[in-house]
Amino acid sequence: MLKRKQLNKERLDKVVSDANRNKELRDQGYREQALKLYSWICTRCEREFNHKNLQELTVHHKDHNHDNNPSDGSNWELLCVYCHDNEHSRFLDAEYGELTSDTEKSAATHNPFADLKKLVIAHSPSIKKK
Ligand SMILES: [Zn+2]
Ligand SMILES: [Zn+2]
Repeated sequence: MLKRKQLNKERLDKVVSDANRNKELRDQGYREQALKLYSWICTRCEREFNHKNLQELTVHHKDHNHDNNPSDGSNWELLCVYCHDNEHSRFLDAEYGELTSDTEKSAATHNPFADLKKLVIAHSPSIKKK
């Protein structure tokens, strides 16, 4: 029985790592395509980029949907990290492309367990009685 569990876990780990790898490949894929398609200039501030600082040039999705990647590049916009940041705070959107750390920071200020606690208390008669 233990052996069976172990096998299932390994399979699950593989599925998870495959999914992560696929996502990485996909993200790399559209970034590479966008960089091939467009000149390395921020669409907003017109800052120019080269191989040395290319990591500061990010791919923004115009409709904010990372899964919408038409090969003609119509949903992509090259933005420097600063303009990308502005773009998203303007729309109050949580999608940050490569800059996921900023998204995590803002998500941490919201406590998802606050509502859950209320729900648990409401549905638990033993706690209600006290
Ligand atoms: Zn810019
Ligand atoms: Zn974006």
